[in-house]
Amino acid sequence: MSEVRVRFAPSPTGPLHIGGVRTALYNYLFAKKHQGKMILRIEDTDQARFVEGAEEYIKESLEWCGINFDEGVDNKGEFGPYKQSDRKELYIKYAQDLIESRWAYYAFDSSEKLNKLREEAEKQKQVFTYNAETRKSLNNSLCLSNEETQAKIEAGDAYVIRFKMPEDKEVIFTDAIRGEVKVNASRLDDKILFKSDGMPTYHLANIVDDHFMEISHVIRGEEWLPSAPLHVLLYRAFKWKEPVFAHLPIILKPVGKGKLSKRDGDKMGFPVFPMSWKDPKSNEVFAGYKESGYFPDAFINMLALLGWNPGTEQEIFSMDELIAAFDLDRVGRSGAKFDPDKTKWFNQQYMQQKRAEDLLTDFNPILIKNGIALHNDQTTIEIIDLVKERCVFVSDIWEQSHFFFQTPDSYNPKVVKKRWKENTPKYIADIKMLLEQSPKWEAVVMHDIVGDYIQQNELGFGAIMNALRLVIVGDGKGPDLFKIIELIGKEEAMKRFDLGLKSIQK
Ligand code: GLU
Repeated sequence: MSEVRVRFAPSPTGPLHIGGVRTALYNYLFAKKHQGKMILRIEDTDQARFVEGAEEYIKESLEWCGINFDEGVDNKGEFGPYKQSDRKELYIKYAQDLIESRWAYYAFDSSEKLNKLREEAEKQKQVFTYNAETRKSLNNSLCLSNEETQAKIEAGDAYVIRFKMPEDKEVIFTDAIRGEVKVNASRLDDKILFKSDGMPTYHLANIVDDHFMEISHVIRGEEWLPSAPLHVLLYRAFKWKEPVFAHLPIILKPVGKGKLSKRDGDKMGFPVFPMSWKDPKSNEVFAGYKESGYFPDAFINMLALLGWNPGTEQEIFSMDELIAAFDLDRVGRSGAKFDPDKTKWFNQQYMQQKRAEDLLTDFNPILIKNGIALHNDQTTIEIIDLVKERCVFVSDIWEQSHFFFQTPDSYNPKVVKKRWKENTPKYIADIKMLLEQSPKWEAVVMHDIVGDYIQQNELGFGAIMNALRLVIVGDGKGPDLFKIIELIGKEEAMKRFDLGLKSIQK
């Protein structure tokens, strides 16, 4: 394979949906696998749809995901500029080349006129299309003489440049995922290539840029498949080498049918954006994976498997493993159903793999927020290690461990009712005394002391342990009780014994 050069080419028209992140990811994996180049190109030719902050959002999100670029708007590269609005001068020339080779023409129809035609067609339950049939009777350079056309341009009449779709011609090309794609050109319309505002449309700019940036593979979402025949024809009209096309399957709603939309996330309580996004116009805020506590590597792992399968049972992949295993051959054609529970499962798996030291950075702010003074990282690390198996998110660590940091201020009444019997206070007071005299404040040692006491007094192990847990934790849950007692320290443990004995009422 000659050098692989792929691009991710978002339009800054809003936040990046997870489908877009997956497109970027597959491009990235493919580039890295083949020691190729990954390029970030910003396609901002549609000024009407420009959204403030979207470009920054896209870049930050991809950075959070660990998707890096070799060339692009903020990187060096010999094929720049990488933002289409900075390449404006380039496109008109190629639009005119197409006019000369008769692949395109000037069209002077006003938008009022076209709207009227659309409305009339609609009344007859039809759709108006600018195509081989209708172009014959419209206001364009195909119907005017060269002089008339020239005169109009010189007079400053507004025009667009349209692609002249061939009549009754099969457009055939190979898609790396879908195989042979065949479309009859007469089903396609004469798309605008160059707009009256002096900007190219996506179609023209995309092809010119892919050509001059020497893109070898165009890997993008299925929503672009209907545009692909036009793109293929444009390459052929310019006599340029076509890249390999690969159209990725759409991401479906968790219920199956239909494309996953931002509204699904709201409705079903999961994010559809990598980072949270505040709409600059409506001020509406959409949740993001980052802010919802997902690890970027877990998120990426989940996305990688949404449309691609490794052909083995393996589910957990680091980025390097993904690069090694990824190939377009194993990307499916049919839509991939998004599964929010599976996404959580991935996060939980990654949580188990993470070192407690590394979770500390995210957990310490949660402690501070809950009014806990940070004093001993080593203890916090041990606490995290004890509870993380029960956690999906770092925020769950607090839920599972707050009693290490806070003296109970209440006692679960259900547990009290079940575990706090007539003689319990006496046993607890005995245990308090024994532990106070323990030669070492260590879980194993204290475990044996309490075990011996239970045996000598012929008590039930479960009953005593549960009552003891109630005193220390305030509830019937938590990890190994002696480990809790060890980690909260002697002074705090004694305090909890006294408080429990005083406060727990049968
Ligand atoms: N600018 C297009 C988008 O936002 C790029 C499509 C393509 O990759 O060709 O999706």
